[in-house]
Amino acid sequence: MNSTDHEVIVIGGGIAGMVAANRAAELGQRVVVLEKSTEEQYIFNSRITYGTFHINFTSPEANEDELVRKVEAVTEGYARADLSRAVAKAGRRLMQWLRDEGIELTDLGQYHTHVLSPVQRSGAGLKWDGFAGDLALKRLEANLKKRGGQILRGSKAVSLKLNADGIGVEIAQSTGMATLHAKSVVVADGGFQANRDMVRAHISPAPEKLVQRHGGTATGDGLRMAQSLGAAVTSELGNFYGHLHVREAIDNAQLWPRPQADDVAAAGIVIDAQGRRVADEGYGGIYLSNAIARLPDPLGTTIIFDQAIWDGPPGRGHVQPPNPLVVEAGGTLHRADSIAELAGLIGVPPQQLQNIVAEYNNAIDAGTLQQLSPPRRNDPVKAWPIRVAPFYAMPISTAITNTMGGIVVDAEARVLDMTGLPIPGLYAAGSTVGGIDGGPHSGYFGGLIKATIGLLAAETIAATRA
Ligand SMILES: Cc1cc2nc3c(=O)[nH]c(=O)nc-3n(C[C@H](O)[C@H](O)[C@H](O)COP(=O)(O)OP(=O)(O)OC[C@H]3O[C@@H](n4cnc5c(N)ncnc54)[C@H](O)[C@@H]3O)c2cc1C
Repeated sequence: MNSTDHEVIVIGGGIAGMVAANRAAELGQRVVVLEKSTEEQYIFNSRITYGTFHINFTSPEANEDELVRKVEAVTEGYARADLSRAVAKAGRRLMQWLRDEGIELTDLGQYHTHVLSPVQRSGAGLKWDGFAGDLALKRLEANLKKRGGQILRGSKAVSLKLNADGIGVEIAQSTGMATLHAKSVVVADGGFQANRDMVRAHISPAPEKLVQRHGGTATGDGLRMAQSLGAAVTSELGNFYGHLHVREAIDNAQLWPRPQADDVAAAGIVIDAQGRRVADEGYGGIYLSNAIARLPDPLGTTIIFDQAIWDGPPGRGHVQPPNPLVVEAGGTLHRADSIAELAGLIGVPPQQLQNIVAEYNNAIDAGTLQQLSPPRRNDPVKAWPIRVAPFYAMPISTAITNTMGGIVVDAEARVLDMTGLPIPGLYAAGSTVGGIDGGPHSGYFGGLIKATIGLLAAETIAATRA
């Protein structure tokens, strides 16, 4: 098949790709979505998502300047200011646009003001069939068809070629290879978390020891193809969005994505097999996940905490609380009346654990947490003392959901080359886009909200053709 019949080709039928495709079709473009999965209801990130649209854990309806400032602070200036502002500005418009598409968004309070519905967040393990992302994607697919757009399943994009009037996309199908041509191509393949070699090269020496908290579809094709056309990718590819879970989540699907151990880790201390703290817990679960993934053994760390943490907001306050789900769902939680006894249960020299806990407690009392090694922040996540018996040790695993590094785009979703100029006809959206989250402490912008970049891509394409 060789066709010039499309104005826009979208690579990837996730939330970012389907937003781009529908918006482009709505603006009068002839659109085709290439989706490598052959199934109608395959598992991938947008299908299994919990569904909260947020910008750095803040409602997309918050003040635009406030959102930009938060992203700047959390990424320590790493995020592209133009893109961050563009998403902060258009994010609320995306919420209304999704509603107009017939997608229900529920307000659950706090930063969960726009959540794909029906919501499913109770109990252990993953439930997605008939919920949140599953329904939203079905609706977007139906809408695309009504608008005359097409979705080609079983069509894996393998290479891109610039030509005189656009871009050729080579695709692999069960019947063989084919090439489609279009004036514009939107890359929305979801990142590279499912590509073990790339994860090993950029994120962790032991990708097999990370919980695969994702749909397994994002293999970095978009990044590779965009690079082949001269696209710039972020200098930093080593950050990812992920969480902490009890150790057995590595091979027990009942233990991820719920319950999550982030808040307990951020309240207490995280130690390695030798009983040393591994990172500044005060940066929270996403940073800790990244720091632990970089260790030689990402399955070798344990959270140490006390009864006050376990019974307080860190243990019970989260929407997916580890207390009591970890134990109920079969995870290991050691408990002892003294720190020395706890050390024995996890194979760490008792004196070492007693020293590290005492040093930590004293630093809280003296206000000298910054002098610990590694230093410890006391905000936004407060350091809780570890004093109230019984004491606990939870061996943990770290889970990767999606990569943060990726293709560089500007505020109009145009893919930039190494000199900062747009590559004609090439756009990117969603998790394959880099440079909007990351930085020294893995600052998180948000996942679903990056579908806004799909909206912007479609609007830029339509405006360019007008
Ligand atoms: C359990 C869980 C809970 C989450 N909860 C939240 C949340 O509450 N809030 C939030 O903001 N984020 C959340 N996320 C993250 C969020 O779901 C993702 O950031 C988002 O869905 C990514 O969308 P995307 O369209 O960029 O990529 P994807 O959803 O990964 O879609 C990419 C698509 O491209 C296809 N594809 C890949 N390569 C090719 C190729 N070569 N050719 C053709 N097709 C290809 C894939 O098959 C896939 O269908 C969660 C993720 C998980 C796993």
